[in-house]
Amino acid sequence: MTVPLDEETARSWLALAVEEARAGRDEGGIPIGAVLVGRDGAVLGRGHNRRVQDGDPSVHGETAAFRDAGRQRSYRGTTMVTTLSPCWYCSGLVRQFGISRLVVGEARTFSGGHDWLAEHGVEVVVLDDPGCAGMMAEFVAAHPDLWFEDIGEDDGAEVGA
Ligand SMILES: [Zn+2]
Repeated sequence: MTVPLDEETARSWLALAVEEARAGRDEGGIPIGAVLVGRDGAVLGRGHNRRVQDGDPSVHGETAAFRDAGRQRSYRGTTMVTTLSPCWYCSGLVRQFGISRLVVGEARTFSGGHDWLAEHGVEVVVLDDPGCAGMMAEFVAAHPDLWFEDIGEDDGAEVGA
C-alpha cells in the first residue's frame, strides 16, 4: 500500500521533475522531466528526456529516472512523477514494474496512458500545473519538428489542444 498523498507533497515532487525538464530544455532537448520516489518519500532516481542530447529516442524522462534509480527489489509503493502525461512506452514501464502511483504535471499538451494506468489499478494524480503546460506549449511552438518526432507522429498532424 502507498501512503496517502497530499497535494503539497505531490507538488514538491513535481518541482523536482520540473527542475529536470528545465535542465533538458537548457541543453537544447525536449523539456520533459521525471522523478521516481520511494515508498518512504525519498527520491530514488531522476532524469529528463535525452532524445536530442544522446541521439537516443528511448531516453524519455521516465525511463531516465527509472534507470537512475538502479535495481529495486520491488516497485510497490513507489511513485513515478512526470511533468507530462506518459507516452505508451513509459506507461508500459509503469505497468511492467508495478509502480503503484503516477503523478502527472499536465495532460493538456499530450494525453498518453494515464487513464489506462488508472483503469489497471495505478493511483493517478493529474495536477494540471500551468507551469508545466506553459513550458511544453512554448517548446512545441518553437520546435514542432522535435515534438512530432518525439511523440512518433511524423505527419505533422495537430495533437492535443
Ligand atoms: Zn515516454
